[in-house]
Amino acid sequence: MKEFGTAKLLIAALLVIILGVSVFLIMSGAFGQDVTILKPEGPGKHAAEPQNPEASPGALNDPSEQPPAFDPGSFEKYGLRVPAKEDADFNALFDGMSREEAENRNKTLAADVEAGNLFIINKKFPVGKTYKASDLAAIKYFAPDRAAETRFMRSEAAQAFNSMIEAAAADGYKIVMTTAYRSYDFQSILYTNYVKKYGQSEADTFSAKPGTSEHQGGLAADISASSVNYQLLQEFGETDEGRWIAENAHKFGFILRYPEGKTDVTGYIYEPWHVRYVGKTAASEIKRLGCTLEEYCNMNGIKNDAVSVKTKE
Ligand SMILES: [Zn+2]
Repeated sequence: MKEFGTAKLLIAALLVIILGVSVFLIMSGAFGQDVTILKPEGPGKHAAEPQNPEASPGALNDPSEQPPAFDPGSFEKYGLRVPAKEDADFNALFDGMSREEAENRNKTLAADVEAGNLFIINKKFPVGKTYKASDLAAIKYFAPDRAAETRFMRSEAAQAFNSMIEAAAADGYKIVMTTAYRSYDFQSILYTNYVKKYGQSEADTFSAKPGTSEHQGGLAADISASSVNYQLLQEFGETDEGRWIAENAHKFGFILRYPEGKTDVTGYIYEPWHVRYVGKTAASEIKRLGCTLEEYCNMNGIKNDAVSVKTKE
């Protein structure tokens, strides 16, 4: 009886000690962290949430560990270059963009590339005598005293051009096209006349040798207004009409193709009258970056041969 009593006492004491240690550990929070990590539940609605976000491991709060705003794969998928971190201006275009927005941007830009809307024709990338887009459509607003055969642009560009001129008119500015599409032969006559009048070296700064004119691609138009007597003058950029174009053209997918201070890139003087259709995505970004079409294609990895412009002989 006595030995049995001692054993009972020992068991009771042991239970008290175990209870005491357990209470101490719970109170000190020693189990707190482990519970969420060791909880043996699989994924789904029972997955453990961190009990105390402030005490979570650094990876959840460190911004450098956050997933990127865009998925580099969505650039590669559309044949576009992933913006490099060191290319700060270009990289900044994607600030605040969600993955979905970035993918949409890549998709629309790639569609414009596919449609040939970023196709470059310049001194380095000329086209042949017979190059002519097969979808030329009439432009509604033009200076009546210029060659009728130039009142065309590629279909999508022509529609966008008409909409742009109508929007300008709604704001009170009357703008017209002087020449848009020019055939190789038309350009040949134009260029020859300029060379006769100004000499070749000066003519080359504002007029293109046949085959190197962007006008042959059907995506460019020269515009003017009565305020400069429908001439193609740099003063046009200072008129209300010229300012309206510089401010709003991108909303319709157009850029000022030969901006001020970019002669070394484009090969042409500042031409506030020469607009070029590239689609809304590229136009808005080119305006934001203040760059040229050549620079924009380079930074996006757009190859000048990656196009499918349908042409007819
Ligand atoms: Zn032009």
